[in-house]
This record gives sequence, structure tokens and C-alpha cells, in this order.
Amino acid sequence: MSKRDYYEVLGVERSADQKEIKKAYRRLAQKYHPDRNPDDDTAAEKFREVSEAYEVLTDSEKRAAYDQFGHAGVDGQAGGFGGGGFGGAGAGGFSDIFGDVFGDIFGGGGGARRNPNAPQRGADMRYNLELDLEDAVAGTTVDIRVPRHVECGHCDGNGAEPGSSKETCPTCHGMGQVRMQQGFFAVQQTCPTCHGRGEVIKVPCRECHGEGRVRETRTLSVKIPAGVDTGDRIRLNNEGEAGANGGPPGDLYVQVAIKSHPIFERDGRHLHCEVPINFVDAALGGELEVPTLEGRVKLKIPPETQTGKLFRLRGKGVKPVRGGPPGDLICKVVLETPVNLTEHQKDLLRQFQDSLGNGNTHSPKKDGWFDGVKKFFEDMKP
Ligand SMILES: [Zn+2]
Ligand SMILES: [Zn+2]
Repeated sequence: MSKRDYYEVLGVERSADQKEIKKAYRRLAQKYHPDRNPDDDTAAEKFREVSEAYEVLTDSEKRAAYDQFGHAGVDGQAGGFGGGGFGGAGAGGFSDIFGDVFGDIFGGGGGARRNPNAPQRGADMRYNLELDLEDAVAGTTVDIRVPRHVECGHCDGNGAEPGSSKETCPTCHGMGQVRMQQGFFAVQQTCPTCHGRGEVIKVPCRECHGEGRVRETRTLSVKIPAGVDTGDRIRLNNEGEAGANGGPPGDLYVQVAIKSHPIFERDGRHLHCEVPINFVDAALGGELEVPTLEGRVKLKIPPETQTGKLFRLRGKGVKPVRGGPPGDLICKVVLETPVNLTEHQKDLLRQFQDSLGNGNTHSPKKDGWFDGVKKFFEDMKP
């Protein structure tokens, strides 16, 4: 689910100072506090939301990251973007899903038809296409299978078996309309026999059963321009449903949705990723290999790098389909706690711990954190 803006959650301006944020938080936290709202899930959720907003906006580093990068800057959870909400078209390159993936969108020919024999433009159609991020960024060509109605070749769209002819409708005598007497009113209605056409087919075409159109599945090659994003639409002229009575066909709209990627999250022209870092490299500084869509690149990490720090690789994002410079790749380093330690390694860590002593000079956050907690509880006192 998309998160609400932290400033909105607290009901403060983006320029709000610490005092205003604290005041807003105190008011809301008291209102939604679980002790005051036992068994109220909505209040509990609000309380959690308010607390999270407070935590980020009162931490100058986190607030700066949030202001610049939004939620991605402070939590980097998956699932912020992409999705698109289509019923899993799945098969990327060669989709073969009818029905649910497919629908008439603009309902061509839905309006009031005055003359059923007048040429009608065919309906526009939509095809939901899911793309891998790499293909969307680089551009590609995709084959899609498109089921649609086309004019029947056997009867040339006439509906009557060749050699037979249409006859004037016996019910309405070719008028297409019949008068029905209902009480005091005479109502003009479309003829139920010929559906307003004025003619009936004596011998229906054996291919289309009198429809004049048949269903056909065609394979279309669709060129996907580089840089497309979820929500973009590619129009293929005249590839929609066949028209009626000699009208032109509709258009086909290919609606793009980008699949979620195991490494990158896309935010418009920018890409975000998380890069794990061990605490030795984080402490001493070092060089990390980070993935980009064009392959690995080296990223220099300065000494004393804290977890969650963001590094911006300019121009390593996505070149937008509508032009403009490519975006950036924003890497968030995430400190990893070592696992599977041998006794010897544990011993080294204990020695290391002892060497730190009791002072907090080696933990930049810890000091501030304890102060903050202390002050927070003092502030909460009524
Ligand atoms: Zn036919
Ligand atoms: Zn009729």
C-alpha cells in the first residue's frame, strides 16, 4: 500500500520546525494512543503511522532524505511502484490471454444509433502488456496475440450466404421500426425481427452465421520505445475491432505495466536499489560493486558510513520515453550483521568490543538516541 506523506500525517507544513512537529505529534499520539483506544485497530494503525512520521521528521538526517527522495529515501521497502494493477498477463513476450486481459475500452458504437445500416467505426481495444524493467528501459519488440472481430471473408460482411439474398423484413416491411400500442400510448420500437435493419437474411452465411464478422486471432509485432513506464499507452491505428456496414476499424491500445524487479525499484526516471555492506567496509571505507542496468560499477564508500546512507550515481537511471536526460541510480547501503561466526571470530569481536570502552564516542547515533528518548518521555508528561 502506498504510504501517506509524513507531513500530511502530522498535519504540519513542510517548513514546520521541530517544535511544531513535536506539538502535532503529541496531540495525535495522545488521541490515538492504544491505552485510550483499546481494541481499536484503526486507532492503532494511526498511532503507528503518526509515530513513524514523527521518528523520521525529527531526525534531521532522515528528514533530509525523506524530503529529497520521499518514502524511498527512508525505508526503501519493495512495492512502492510498479504493479499497475492488471490481472497478471504474465507471459511477457508472447501473451495469449483473452477475456480478462482484454476488453473494449471506449465502447465504440455505444451511443444512440439512429440508423443501424449506417457505417460504424469498430470499437477500440486495449491489450494489457507486462514488461520486464530491462526491456522497458532499453526498448524492445513484442509479439502479442490479439483476438478481434474482422469482416467475414465468405460473405464479405453481408451476413447472407453467397448466392442467396436478403429479403425485406416481413414484420416491419422494411421500416426497421414497429408501433406498439400500450394503453393510451403508441410506442415506436426497433423491430424485434430485423433489429432495425429492415431486411432479414434468408440463408445465413455458414462462416459467420449471419453476423457478417468472424473472430480471428492475429499476431502483431509491437515496437516498444525505450523508457516506457507503467501507465504508458501505445496506439496501433486500425488494429481494433472491425467496423460495421463498411465503417473503419477501431484502434488497439497497448497498455504498459512494468513488472517488479528483484533489484531495482523504478520511480519515474530514477532507479532505487539496496546494496548490502559488511560492517568492516562500512567502518573503514571501501569499494563496493553495485549493479546498474548496464552492468556492475564500482562505488567508493567513505569510512564511517552508516546504514541507510544513500549514494547517487548520476545518469545511471532511465532515459525517459518523452525525452530529457536520464535519471539517477540511488543506492542505499544496508549494513549487514555477520553470521556463521567461528569461535575465533567471535572472540575477536569480543576483544574489539572491550577495546571500545564505555564511552559512546564510537556510536554517533546512540548518544543522541538516548537523549531523545529521555526528552520524549519528559515531554509526554501532562
Ligand atoms: Zn459471413
Ligand atoms: Zn423488421
